[in-house]
Amino acid sequence: MRSVSVIGGGISGLSAACFLAKDGLDVTIYEKNDTIGGRCRVFQEKGFTFDMGPSWYWMPDVFEGFFTHFNKTAADYYHLIQLDPGFQIILGKDDILLVPAEMEELRQVFEAREKGSAARLDKFLSEAAYKYRLSMTELVKTPAYSWLEFAKAPVFRSMFKMNLFSSVRTYVRSYFRDPGLVALLEFPVLFLGAMPNRIPALYTLMNHAALTQGTFYPMGGMGRIIDAMQHLALSLGVKIQTAAAVQKLNISNGHADSVTINGHTIKADAVVAAADYHHVEQQLLPAAYRNYTEEYWDKKTLAPSCLIYYIGLNKKLSKLQHHNLFFDTDFEQHANEIYTHPRWPQDPLFYVCCPSKTDPSVAPSGNENLFILIPIAPALNDEATLRDVYFNKIITKLETFCGESFKENIVVNKSYGISNFMSDYNAYKGNAYGLANTLRQTAVLKPAMRNKKVNNLFYAGQLTVPGPGLPPSLISGEIVAGQVLKQLKKLKYESAF
Ligand SMILES: Cc1cc2nc3c(=O)[nH]c(=O)nc-3n(C[C@H](O)[C@H](O)[C@H](O)COP(=O)(O)OP(=O)(O)OC[C@H]3O[C@@H](n4cnc5c(N)ncnc54)[C@H](O)[C@@H]3O)c2cc1C
Repeated sequence: MRSVSVIGGGISGLSAACFLAKDGLDVTIYEKNDTIGGRCRVFQEKGFTFDMGPSWYWMPDVFEGFFTHFNKTAADYYHLIQLDPGFQIILGKDDILLVPAEMEELRQVFEAREKGSAARLDKFLSEAAYKYRLSMTELVKTPAYSWLEFAKAPVFRSMFKMNLFSSVRTYVRSYFRDPGLVALLEFPVLFLGAMPNRIPALYTLMNHAALTQGTFYPMGGMGRIIDAMQHLALSLGVKIQTAAAVQKLNISNGHADSVTINGHTIKADAVVAAADYHHVEQQLLPAAYRNYTEEYWDKKTLAPSCLIYYIGLNKKLSKLQHHNLFFDTDFEQHANEIYTHPRWPQDPLFYVCCPSKTDPSVAPSGNENLFILIPIAPALNDEATLRDVYFNKIITKLETFCGESFKENIVVNKSYGISNFMSDYNAYKGNAYGLANTLRQTAVLKPAMRNKKVNNLFYAGQLTVPGPGLPPSLISGEIVAGQVLKQLKKLKYESAF
């Protein structure tokens, strides 16, 4: 039985492992932390369950598609519900945009803010649906080694309809003028790690996910996705070793023979590196075998990092919804402080997730579970005193919004930032979401899924194709498994002669 070592037990590593084990390979995941899940891990304290990273469950079709490969459904593992409202955007003191799940209600929200916009929304969303479908069927599941992979008739036919060469900003503003509606339609691409003026309008396909498909939540929390995948992986025979940091990839004659873990050498027929790409290349691989230099990485546009607070409150807050986006400050200035002149933001916009609004299991009765996230530039100086400054800033703002004080009610208070991303995940410059999906960092222009000098070493995860986010990382595991299987067959064939 051929063996594959998977480095990293995040969603991409788990996904790759499941596909490889299904095809009869002997698969072991090596994860440096004590628990798997990577950026989608969970921690528990004083009766609260905190999702440490992702909180938006978008593109349920991608998760469902994954489980279908194994004759399962997501419902075999967790109970998914659609949130209504999906989320709220706080645009100003008295200006709150609630985003309903029902399309007719959403049309009314649009019409109330800008006359004639409901009809334009129909057209906008039908174009977004078209881009989403074409991307999912023709674009997203290729390893992107060459542009030729995209040279398919449906792609050529739709070149102009895909809006590759205009930006999200230009495209959205050609439809809508109301600043609230513009903010609503531009916000989903922030997940892609760059400003709407730098992201191709192709990615308004995210509006199909956000507004037509809707925002979902797995009861019990996002960690349930990882529990489900772990359950599936073990049932397929995958072995999972935690507290097992890979220290070295051992290469001879352009072939990865083994990995070194805690001083032990473990042989493998192929390796899937599903830990941060830069870490694997720069720290685990000898220099001669790297795809990219340090200069290459330094020139890349990273998606933002973030400063997070996990807060347990022994009271309820009535004004919060499950998802709350505080866009009531100067967005351009904060964006400048992330991308153009990286520094700590003066007056940041921020996001608050309050899953206890939906799920009583994530907080003790009568309590509230808060996840507060401030996007920041990667590689900033991450100091405890600064974390205190921002904590006070944001809590004061939240108290004003909620119309009640709650500082005294905080019973759990943990922060997480750049230095934690580095130490927990070996994240380059403390990145949270990998590389920005700008046009110059899309498809073939992303770090490649295969090592060009080591014939049985492949990469998966948010830093390679298709990109950051849970659904793309899940897909990345599927694509890489296909590449490994193909290569192992080829090597077997070659060794027979
Ligand atoms: C704060 C935050 C919020 C997010 N919000 C959302 C959201 O709402 N919705 C969404 O879809 N996506 C969201 N994302 C993005 C999503 O979480 C990631 O894109 C995805 O989880 C990345 O998965 P991965 O497998 O590529 O990497 P990871 O999850 O980081 O997994 C890599 C694993 O490799 C391990 N590792 C590192 N070095 C070694 C080594 N030497 N040996 C062994 N193991 C090693 C790490 O410990 C880690 O477990 C968010 C991310 C963050 C950080």
